[in-house]
Amino acid sequence: MSPITLEVQPQQAPIDSHISPDTITEFNEYVMNTYARFPIALERGEGCRVWDNTGKEYLDFVAGIATCTLGHAHPAMVKSVTEQIQTLHHASNLFYFAPQGQLAKWLVQNSCADKAFFCNSGAEANEGAIKLARKYAHTKLGIDNPVILTANASFHGRTLATVTATGQPKYHKNFAPLVQGFDYIPYNDIAALETAVTKYEGRLCAIMLEPLQGEGGVNPGDRAYFARIREICDEKKILLIIDEVQVGMGRSGMLWGYENLGIQPDVFTSAKGLGGGIPIGAMMCKAHCNVFEPGDHASTFGGNPFACAVALSVCNTMVNDNLIANARERGQQLRTGLQAICDRYPQHIASVRGWGLIDGLVLQESSNIQARDVVAAGIEHGLLLVPAGVKVVRFVPPLIVSAAEIEQALAIVDQAIASFAS
Ligand SMILES: *Cc1c(COP(=O)(O)O)cnc(C)c1O
Repeated sequence: MSPITLEVQPQQAPIDSHISPDTITEFNEYVMNTYARFPIALERGEGCRVWDNTGKEYLDFVAGIATCTLGHAHPAMVKSVTEQIQTLHHASNLFYFAPQGQLAKWLVQNSCADKAFFCNSGAEANEGAIKLARKYAHTKLGIDNPVILTANASFHGRTLATVTATGQPKYHKNFAPLVQGFDYIPYNDIAALETAVTKYEGRLCAIMLEPLQGEGGVNPGDRAYFARIREICDEKKILLIIDEVQVGMGRSGMLWGYENLGIQPDVFTSAKGLGGGIPIGAMMCKAHCNVFEPGDHASTFGGNPFACAVALSVCNTMVNDNLIANARERGQQLRTGLQAICDRYPQHIASVRGWGLIDGLVLQESSNIQARDVVAAGIEHGLLLVPAGVKVVRFVPPLIVSAAEIEQALAIVDQAIASFAS
């Protein structure tokens, strides 16, 4: 076979050039304006570092928003991506192929669940959980107008059902009519939970919660609250659905966020960190609520050999390289360092909270600094961070992050806060 030659127009810079056509201009012209992007164009990554198209280096504590579990260009991912694309990259769920079965086995053997369904994203995994809960309501509980409770300040995705499940009015605005059958309760509030359970007696089929609210402000769940929910769900035979999309896959310092709460869900979902940055989602359930049958739910791309082989390499690397213990230890180091910064600037910083490598620096309500200002200052000093709401700065580095990289990030945050304090 002769090599394919592309005709390159003389005025165009080569694709790999640092002075390629202005990426930001192209976005402004051709991409829908749905994100408030920071004004840098990223080009390349390695480990916990990324470089923009001017060659500037950043420590990446966003990691694709808690997604790049193994950082960038990890050899295990390069190997699994390359091998699987050369073997069988996509087939169809009309057939069997090894990687999906192997990944399902790994997830079942390393969680409380008995079965897996694969899709492509967190929203889709939650969408699957919502459909499963509704079929469970119709077929097992005899409820024909089921209700699912979710929490205020939660985040479950942007499809119509998952954005309805998301307890944040700002995401609902202009999208009415929303999906029926959802109501909201304050997070970590046992009395409010009991009132809602009584209100929907005979209609309630599931309670869906994050183990720690990520997007809503890095707000950890309370053990007593989740223990009470588990009791209520057992008593009423309703499903506890845990959204592990952001917190799961080792990030919390345990494989699954629910392990920090001392309970087991009936259903849980995973996505972000599962594929290390390759799109994949999973909806996991226990045997007693495994109500789907052929034809009930499906996905063309879901669980394809490529995504599953890569996810499996992420899972295996996480175990072989002790990355969950690393998440625990580096998280402790990060929170200790952030607490010291908090103590130095009490007029600006209220508190530090989180589990493992999902941590939040909570700004004072009375301070004029917003999370976006800290993120912008971080970018200037070479550190990528992401806001979680208006007043919380979120730290979600790759699970491979080193002690030296945590120290470097802390020094930059200190510098950034100092620049506001002076
Ligand atoms: C990001 C996120 C989602 C949505 O995942 P997508 O892959 O963006 O659809 C759902 N739930 C939680 C907790 C998340 O953090």
